[in-house]
Amino acid sequence: MALSGIQIYKLLPQTNCKDCGFPTCLAFAMKLAAKQADLDKCPHVSDEAREQLAESAAPPVRLVTISADGREAKSGNELVLFRHEKTFYNPTGIFIRVYDDEPTETIKSKVEEAAAYKVEYVGMELGIDGFAVEATADGETFAAAVRAVLGVAQLPLILIARDPEVMAKGLEAAEGTRPLIVGADAESWQGFAELAKKHGSAMTITAGSLKGMSELADQVKEAGVEDIVLDPAVRDLRSSLALNTLTRRMALKKNHRSLGYPIVSFPGEFSDDEGMVVIAATQAITKYAGFVVLDRFSPATIYPLLVLRTNIYTDPQKPIQVQPGLYEINDPGPDAPLMVTTNFSITYFSVANEVDGSGIPGWLLVADAEGMSVLTAWAAGKFDAERIGKAVKSGNIADKLSHRKLILPGHVSVLMGEVEEELPGWQILVGPREAVDLPAYLKLWSSS
Ligand code: SF4
Repeated sequence: MALSGIQIYKLLPQTNCKDCGFPTCLAFAMKLAAKQADLDKCPHVSDEAREQLAESAAPPVRLVTISADGREAKSGNELVLFRHEKTFYNPTGIFIRVYDDEPTETIKSKVEEAAAYKVEYVGMELGIDGFAVEATADGETFAAAVRAVLGVAQLPLILIARDPEVMAKGLEAAEGTRPLIVGADAESWQGFAELAKKHGSAMTITAGSLKGMSELADQVKEAGVEDIVLDPAVRDLRSSLALNTLTRRMALKKNHRSLGYPIVSFPGEFSDDEGMVVIAATQAITKYAGFVVLDRFSPATIYPLLVLRTNIYTDPQKPIQVQPGLYEINDPGPDAPLMVTTNFSITYFSVANEVDGSGIPGWLLVADAEGMSVLTAWAAGKFDAERIGKAVKSGNIADKLSHRKLILPGHVSVLMGEVEEELPGWQILVGPREAVDLPAYLKLWSSS
C-alpha cells in the first residue's frame, strides 16, 4: 500500500538537515508521497525504514527496459493521465513485426529497410525502436528468424511464441540482448516466467479483463518476475481504449500496483484495413501503450506516428529549442538578407525550411526567446527590442554584412521603432507574418 506523506515522515530521521535538497523532512516526505522525489536523495534513512518506504516510493507504473547492443526501448515511470498535468516521460516504442515462416531473405530485407529509416523532425532524428519476431512453427525455425533479424539490425526485440519451448529457442538465439517475451496467458504463464527469470527478460501477460490481468500480474510477480508488460486481450478500438485507460487510471489514481505496468498493443490485429491499423496505432500511442507492434513498415504511415509520438512525449513546459545564434542558409554572402526569429524549434524550422526551399541565400538570426514562438515570446516579454538588439550585437553580425538591414517577423511589427532605437544605424524592415510567405518576400528583396 502507498503511504501518506505523514506516514512517510514518521519513517524519516526528522533532523531537517536539508541534505536531500528539501528544507525539511516533512517537505521531502510530501514529495515522496507525490512520487516527485527519489528516496535515494536522503542519505540518512535507516535500512529498516528504507525497506518500508521502498514500495511506497516505487513509481506507480514500473519502468520496463528492453535492449540490444546498447540500444534501449523503455516504458513506464509515468505519473499522470494527461500530458498537460505534468509530462510523459518514456515515448512509446514502435516495433515492426516479422514472422518466422517468411523466407530469410525477405525477413532481412524488411528489417534492413525499416532499421535504415531515419527522418529529421525539428532537429531530431526519428526512427523505429526495434523488431518483433513471431513464431509460427518450431523452435529452430524461430531461432533462425531471430538470428536473421539480429544479423541485420542490433535493435531491441519483442519475441512472440505461444509455446514456452519454442520461446526458449528464440531466447537462446537472442542471447546478449534483453527482449520482451510475449505469449504468457493464464494457462501458460509459469513456463514463460521461468524463461524470463533465466534470461533476465521482460514478459507480457494477457487477459481480457482488468481483474484477470491484475491477478495474473500478482502470480507472475510472486514467481519472481518484476518486469511485466500488460497485453489486454482485446483487439478492437473501443475495448482497447477502455481497458488501456482503466488500467492506467487504476495504477495512477488508485495506486493499484498489480496494474502498474506498461501496456503493449498490436494494431495490426485490429483490422486488415491499413487505414484502421494506423488509427489503432494512433490511439495506442495517445492512450497508454508503451510498446506498439506494427505488421508493416511504410514511411507513409511510420512518419506521422513518429511525429505524433514525439509531440505527445515532449514536455509541455520545456519547448523543443534550437541553439540561439546566426544560421547560414544557401551559402549567403554579405549582401544577403538578415532575418530574425525565435529559438522555438518549430518556428526555426518553419522559417529555415521556407528560406532553404526558396533557393535564396539568407542569414537567419535566432534570438534566445526561451523556446517560445514569436507571438508567445513577444506577449511574454521574451522577444523584445532589447533581446533582438542583444542578439544582433553579440554575434558580430555587422562584420559579415555589407548592409544594415534587419527583417522582423510580421507578427511583431509593433517592435519596429524600439528595435531601431536599440540598433542605431540599422534599417528595420517588417517581413511577412507567416513563414510560408517568406520566399515571395525574399524574391522582392533580391530583385531590389
Ligand atoms: S536528507 Fe533526510 S534527514 Fe535530511 S532533511 Fe532530507 S529527509 Fe530529512
